[in-house]
Amino acid sequence: MTDSSRQPAKEHYRTLDVPEDAAQEEIAQQYQRLLKLYQPELLESPEDRAYAEQKLTAVEEAYAVLGDPARRAIYDGRPAPLAVGSDGEPESLTCANHPDRETLLRCNKCGNPICMECAVRTPVGYRCTNCVREQQNIYFNALGRDNIVALGVGFIVSLIGAPIIGFLLSSIGFFGFFIAFIAGSGAGTLLARIIRRAVGNRRGRKLPHFALAGTLLGVAPWALFFLLAGGRGFLTMLIFAGLVIASAFPQLR
Ligand SMILES: [Zn+2]
Ligand SMILES: [Zn+2]
Repeated sequence: MTDSSRQPAKEHYRTLDVPEDAAQEEIAQQYQRLLKLYQPELLESPEDRAYAEQKLTAVEEAYAVLGDPARRAIYDGRPAPLAVGSDGEPESLTCANHPDRETLLRCNKCGNPICMECAVRTPVGYRCTNCVREQQNIYFNALGRDNIVALGVGFIVSLIGAPIIGFLLSSIGFFGFFIAFIAGSGAGTLLARIIRRAVGNRRGRKLPHFALAGTLLGVAPWALFFLLAGGRGFLTMLIFAGLVIASAFPQLR
């Protein structure tokens, strides 16, 4: 499968062997001609069959775009026209994902008809969820190891930080609670910055979850320690850790 958006602009025209200003009828005729030309089932040798199948796939892909005036317009870099039926009214399309739903809307990147539920409003217009996801994959550029790095850094920082906070704040009595409340989210921002720097400021869908898991793993043994030791340390640390996580987690998205 090739992705039409990444091919050089004229490839589909080359595949169908039609000029770029060809009329729709000409494109349809040429498509029918090529279908008759490449018939793998009529060929004897496996090499010939494979070649014909490959050609046929390319022809089908090219015609799926050029045979549809709206998709062709988007492929050519022109705005997609509204399809007009024989009665002069805009012809309604059916959603590419929901064949039972009529729509007038098209994704402005790939040209597929989309219903309101499948449409995502972006700064550059309505797009289908597939195209938006493709765009997000460029935005989410984290490497596989970044998740592990986020987990490890969250773990180490909280493993070192939790006892310091626990001992320090519980040693200053009830006032420690207030400091935990005040300083918690600031410490969360700091943790988020440390993790983001450790992963080269890349973004990943699962990165915040791994960072959260690491942080919890680092806090857990100390939470248990302070719980068993009794006293204020446990509660102070719990408040502090809760605020750190609530603050750091959204900043890593
Ligand atoms: Zn699309
Ligand atoms: Zn839909």
